[in-house]
Amino acid sequence: MEEEQQGGKANTQTCTILSLDHTNLCYRVCAICERTLPTATGNSNSNNAPSSFLCKFCNTNNTKRLFRILMSVATDTEVFTVICFDRVAKVLFGCSADEFFDFARFHPLSGVAVNEILEGEIFTMTLSKPLNSNAQNTRVASAVPLSSGFRPAIEVLREYYKSQYSS
Ligand SMILES: [Zn+2]
Repeated sequence: MEEEQQGGKANTQTCTILSLDHTNLCYRVCAICERTLPTATGNSNSNNAPSSFLCKFCNTNNTKRLFRILMSVATDTEVFTVICFDRVAKVLFGCSADEFFDFARFHPLSGVAVNEILEGEIFTMTLSKPLNSNAQNTRVASAVPLSSGFRPAIEVLREYYKSQYSS
């Protein structure tokens, strides 16, 4: 599992989120063993997982999504890209990847909105540099919002869409 890979040295820095790649926020894993499943081609908007998402080990096509997010962040001195896996991404989003995509299905602009909501948010991030730096991104091992007023993206989205519909 990618998330379990241990990187090299970890260091803690104050990072401001500049942007995140909202077009590619997650990947599919087997719901039982959490092995990464190959990405199917084409877009399926149906609730049923396509048969191509078959886990050969568990012989099931029961899948779930996990977050995997590329983000551009800035410290005092530099701007760089980090990769953020499920556990940390849940801090930013306030929900699981499946919950977010269920929400986004009814609110197609959620991805763009998330980018705007999280832009400029400041976190104390523990960053883990890969041991061999071949095309691997620095991984965010943990993220703690600096502001006590931070609200996860899904909360802001739910409130926004609720007020939009009730007005
Ligand atoms: Zn499996």
